[in-house]
Amino acid sequence: GNLIFNGELITRSAVKIDVEDRGYQFGDGVYEVIRIYNGQLFASEMHLKRLFESAKFIRIKVPFTLEELKAKLEALIVKDGLTFGIVYMQLTRGASSRNHAFPTEEVEPVFIAYTKEMPYAGEVKPGVKALLTDDMRWLRCNIKSLNLLGNILAKQEAVEAGCAEAVLHRDGIVTEGSSSNVSIIVDGTLKTHPANNLILNGITRRVMLQLCQANGIPVVEEAFSIADMLAADEVLYTSTGVEVTPIVSIDGKIINDGQTGPITRQLQVYFREEIERQCGR
Ligand code: PLP
Repeated sequence: GNLIFNGELITRSAVKIDVEDRGYQFGDGVYEVIRIYNGQLFASEMHLKRLFESAKFIRIKVPFTLEELKAKLEALIVKDGLTFGIVYMQLTRGASSRNHAFPTEEVEPVFIAYTKEMPYAGEVKPGVKALLTDDMRWLRCNIKSLNLLGNILAKQEAVEAGCAEAVLHRDGIVTEGSSSNVSIIVDGTLKTHPANNLILNGITRRVMLQLCQANGIPVVEEAFSIADMLAADEVLYTSTGVEVTPIVSIDGKIINDGQTGPITRQLQVYFREEIERQCGR
């Protein structure tokens, strides 16, 4: 276990986090997860930009430039000898005597990053079951905030029902998954919730939309209802962890006879090709 802790590369056991760190007490911080294939960061520019944007949204200053941070992450990956995995990073507002209002200017934000092994399962990912549940989260879901209670309660509900993901809805309108974005295919067109305050604009979602555009798959970024989803030809979900994965059952209702649909399958191929383009094979 090596970590980047406030810019230094140190061992995990040497890290000291204060009990009054605002990340620990309030979830007052942001995070980011980047996939590593063949020792290379995937879509790092988009991920790091999103980290800076999320931090700016909650008025935390990232103590590095994007280029400095990328170089530090690359050094960490080399030090860990990691070929396939993820890098997790988080930035909190720092440690200060507990008080809801921001601490004084001198309080430094606290940054950590570490890697974890995660094998690449290849382009074919079998369909999963999902359940529907209320989106109970706040109205700034576009910020990749450490506050994940609404997400973890939904995910736990899914896991206890033997499902891989919880699909969230607000009054019957599907927003996203508990840790993923959800899209449907209707008559050859991919439909997904617009990137507004109600969803996290996933990097996998964005890469997929670019791949759709490059390969002539029509896209509409429009909200869809539960009924639209259950009647769709294909349903899929995307994230750094699951890449492009079909959803073949929702609350026990079977989608596309339980099979991976042709467009989802195509997107899996395009996604694998994009991984190879960026990270080598
Ligand atoms: N939506 C939520 C709520 C998430 O937590 C995540 C990722 O963890 C995503 C969407 C997908 O984002 P990305 O593709 O950048 O991993």
